[in-house]
Amino acid sequence: MPKLLFESLEKVYPNGVRAVSDFSLQVEEGEFIVLVGPSGCGKSTLLRMIAGLERITSGTLKLDGCEVNNVSPRDRDVAMVFQSYALYPHMTVAENMGISLLLRKTDKKVIAEKVRETARLLDIADLLERKPDQLSGGQRQRVALGRAIVRQPSVFLLDEPLSNLDAALRSQMRLELISLHRRLGATFIYVTHDQTEAMTMGDRIVVMDKGVIQQVGTPEELYRRPRSPFVAGFIGTPKINLLGCTVKHSGSQVFACFDGLRTPLSPDCAFPDGPALLGVRPEDLILQEGGGPDSLTARIELVEMTGGDNYIHLAAGQSRLTLKCSSRLHFAVGQDISFSIPADRVLLFPPEQS
Ligand code: ADP
Repeated sequence: MPKLLFESLEKVYPNGVRAVSDFSLQVEEGEFIVLVGPSGCGKSTLLRMIAGLERITSGTLKLDGCEVNNVSPRDRDVAMVFQSYALYPHMTVAENMGISLLLRKTDKKVIAEKVRETARLLDIADLLERKPDQLSGGQRQRVALGRAIVRQPSVFLLDEPLSNLDAALRSQMRLELISLHRRLGATFIYVTHDQTEAMTMGDRIVVMDKGVIQQVGTPEELYRRPRSPFVAGFIGTPKINLLGCTVKHSGSQVFACFDGLRTPLSPDCAFPDGPALLGVRPEDLILQEGGGPDSLTARIELVEMTGGDNYIHLAAGQSRLTLKCSSRLHFAVGQDISFSIPADRVLLFPPEQS
């Protein structure tokens, strides 16, 4: 039985905004699902519907096989961690962590033991008597997580939990959350607008836009086989190159032509002759010193050094491309360089999807 089953879930707010449309998804027990998409695409609304904090306009939500559309938040076996942490300022860390158990009239000794155990798990055992304003952002984040863990829910709902942390702490907490998920064995539904978080954390990623699912898949599936230019453009840094091109069959060969350049496509390319949108990841532009039969030439407009990698921004006529290579290679702005695009790395989309 799936842990969570969404059947054509819809949310229309009283002001007429359709925040989520026809959302259908099956989530298995113990999965780490990441909902990702640009701001306003309906991620938080969806999470709040799972938590029971937002009414479902239509469709069905099942938790462990039972419909929960009208079940109150406290009777759902879920716990939510908010972006703002939502800690009570007048309570200590221990009180904040134990509050939900206290409200359920759990024995105080049991609460204290659970809080201590969770605090050890999160490495905050020495902070239990502090108040939230005596904690750093990262420590507050752990307390918010701890408050959810203490309840031992089978589903954790996490709404951009790392967005208030600095970059270094964010990447550390990413790893900690992955390991926490493994240790707890619970189902995680994690909302973010950050594709790096989605790629590094999710067993599966749900890409949303304007309230609608664009694609569901493993990080690798979304990266290698995006179904649309939107998904291709949203997943991956630096961004995928997307160029208008013309497909041309010539004997047994097929080419994509743009700005006087042409690059071979796989001979079994199903696209008819005519306009298309070509997608190629920056690391799939392969430098060709001295050129070659299928090499392309473009002029360097900018070199972005990011540490180990260089992002080389190229101009070929009206087209702009980014090539990713080792930063040990040195290039000058204004220089022409040759590169090739392996046919099996090219993604083609219909032109009207652009
Ligand atoms: P995300 O989490 O992806 O940024 P949200 O779920 O917060 O997106 O919002 C989805 C859409 O619903 C947006 O257009 C937003 O303005 C709208 N929205 C969110 N909350 C409300 C509300 N309480 N009333 C009306 N519209 C809302």
